[in-house]
Parts: sequence; structure tokens; C-alpha cells
Amino acid sequence: MEMPIKPGDMVMIAYPTKCCGSASGYGESWVVSEFGACTEWCKDCGTGIEGVAAVSATQGALLYRLKVMKPDEDQDSVAAHKELELIA
Ligand SMILES: [Zn+2]
Repeated sequence: MEMPIKPGDMVMIAYPTKCCGSASGYGESWVVSEFGACTEWCKDCGTGIEGVAAVSATQGALLYRLKVMKPDEDQDSVAAHKELELIA
């Protein structure tokens, strides 16, 4: 699940939270502008998880929850949707 993410990559929340497996934010996507250490507070159970987040001006999430999207590869986004359905 470890993957290289670079500024300019489009990412999507595709994995559950470590604390309680919350699917909060599934499917949200944005283009990464920078990285920063942060504490992400779970919307479901309130646990704070420290880590490195990939963020844009308006959104962000810890790296372990993110999947890199490749807009020029349709096959990849189809696979991502299938994966989401399986987890949900
Ligand atoms: Zn939680």
C-alpha cells in the first residue's frame, strides 16, 4: 500500500482509517500541492492519528488513506471504483 506520491499527482481517499476502519471521505479526490506532518482527527471515533498528509488548498488526508489516480489511464480509475465497491 506504500506508494510514491508527488506534488501535482491526483489522489483519492481509498482506504479506511487505522483507528476504527471508518470510510469517512471515501472517493474525495484532489491534486496534491504539498506535504505536511499533521494529526488527522477521525470523524467517526475522534481518534487523532499522526502522520504525513498530502494536501491541496482545500483538502488533505494522511498518505496511508490515499491512492494515486492517473487521469490519463482510464483503466486505473475503473479499478479504483471496483476497489471502493468491494470495501464498502
Ligand atoms: Zn476512527
